[in-house]
Amino acid sequence: MKKKFFINGEWIEGNHYQPLKSPYSEEVIAEIPQASEKEVDQAIEAADKAREVMAKMPAHKRAAILENLVRLTEERAAEAAEIIAKEAAKPITTAKAEVERTIATYKFAAEEAKRIYGETLPLDAAQGGEGRVAYTVREPLGIVAAITPFNFPMNLVAHKVGPALAAGNTIVLKPASQTPLSSLFLGELLEAAGLPKGAINIVTGSGRVVGEKITTDDRVSVVTFTGSPAVGIGIRNKAGLKRVILELGSNSAVIVDKNVEIDKIISRCVTGAFSFQGQVCISLQRIYVHEEVYESFVERFVEQTSQLKIGDPLHPTTDVSALITRNDVERSLAWIEEAKEGGAKVALGGKAEGNVLYPTVILEADSSLKVSCQEVFAPIVLINKIQSMEEAYQFVNDSRYGLQAGIYTNDVFTALEASEKLHVGGVMINDIPTFRVDHMPYGGVKESGLGREGIKYTIEEMTELKLIVWNKN
Ligand code: NAP
Repeated sequence: MKKKFFINGEWIEGNHYQPLKSPYSEEVIAEIPQASEKEVDQAIEAADKAREVMAKMPAHKRAAILENLVRLTEERAAEAAEIIAKEAAKPITTAKAEVERTIATYKFAAEEAKRIYGETLPLDAAQGGEGRVAYTVREPLGIVAAITPFNFPMNLVAHKVGPALAAGNTIVLKPASQTPLSSLFLGELLEAAGLPKGAINIVTGSGRVVGEKITTDDRVSVVTFTGSPAVGIGIRNKAGLKRVILELGSNSAVIVDKNVEIDKIISRCVTGAFSFQGQVCISLQRIYVHEEVYESFVERFVEQTSQLKIGDPLHPTTDVSALITRNDVERSLAWIEEAKEGGAKVALGGKAEGNVLYPTVILEADSSLKVSCQEVFAPIVLINKIQSMEEAYQFVNDSRYGLQAGIYTNDVFTALEASEKLHVGGVMINDIPTFRVDHMPYGGVKESGLGREGIKYTIEEMTELKLIVWNKN
């Protein structure tokens, strides 16, 4: 029950502890050590000492450690899913899917560890470059500080730990305060996988204390952060010349054209809107439907949403469970109230029981309302009528965010036009914006962040390009 930090290959007790409660049952599930600056300093020191070992480790060995991690995670997959379900209130079927994806992410990392290539350059393309041979290599940057959110406590950690180790870096990991157990579990697995001591250090505690120290410490070379824009922007402002990767929020949208067969896309849209209670960075928050099919879309969407099962995250049939905190329930209810006062219609939901907010469908919400222009991060979706695709692109782009967007259309020219006009990191043709597999480049524009995840792309961000020139003259 009483957990420990993982520093320099050792499990270390903290001086201060805080109870960790399940968001659904509100029972205490563990006691979590709260790091002070001193423990964070020890973790950075351990990561600093391990740098040379990791940088010198051959690629096949880094890959082998990651392959061991894959095997160990597979062996303990059921336990892993239960940890996620308990600490995050993630419905168990969704938690199992996260564990499957985590395994895939580490597999990609093991593979990518073996193909970190450079290139040769024809220097004689420039006058004065004759008689020279040039090539590039990619070198590890050193210490990667990883700060992670609560919503995918295993797979989003994997998106930082996997590429950092694949590239030969060392890590100080600070998981979200609500979901530290998944990261501590990873520490156990990496210890058993044969990772040298100090190559990963896991410090739990408040974002302000731990996050502040690892963001500002000179020994750290990269800060990779996934979380809310406000915290991400603060990190970027404090990080100085460190490399910073930011995966931030969004209010993702999908467009539905008039020629689309509505029945075929409803269940996918419902899943995109309500999976893990809408607490997914690419959750479907805004749906813009052509007026010719609007009524039938709304009718079928509301009908399917009303069938979602609400309850205990550990129950195998549960679709929707508790929000991460009581505050989020209250915030969501206030935003729904604002939408009603602003003339929008609540077609379904709009109420809460305990920490569970019922799946909520809002129609014809003005784009200035919080449920539209801010990230709701709750089981709330808007469905608005549009008259033309041009109007839809404007609505989608009228956002501080730009992570991913989707469009359903049978017209290839409209699809091409949308792929050009939507200002986001990824456009999904004939799919919801919520689509993600773990090797694709993933990240946003505007307040959705900086840099890309997806193992190969993260490795580029976590390595330094070095040029070597041989003079044969
Ligand atoms: P959050 O509140 O921003 O927290 C994220 C992490 O930052 C936590 O570990 C948190 O620690 C830490 N933190 C808090 N204050 C800090 C500070 N001053 N300095 C450094 N670190 C600090 O986000 P969240 O509520 O966990 O996650 C939800 C957000 O993440 C949403 O906006 C969502 O869209 C975004 N997200 C984005 C992606 C993506 O790939 N683009 C994926 C998933 C989630 P504590 O927990 O101790 O406060």
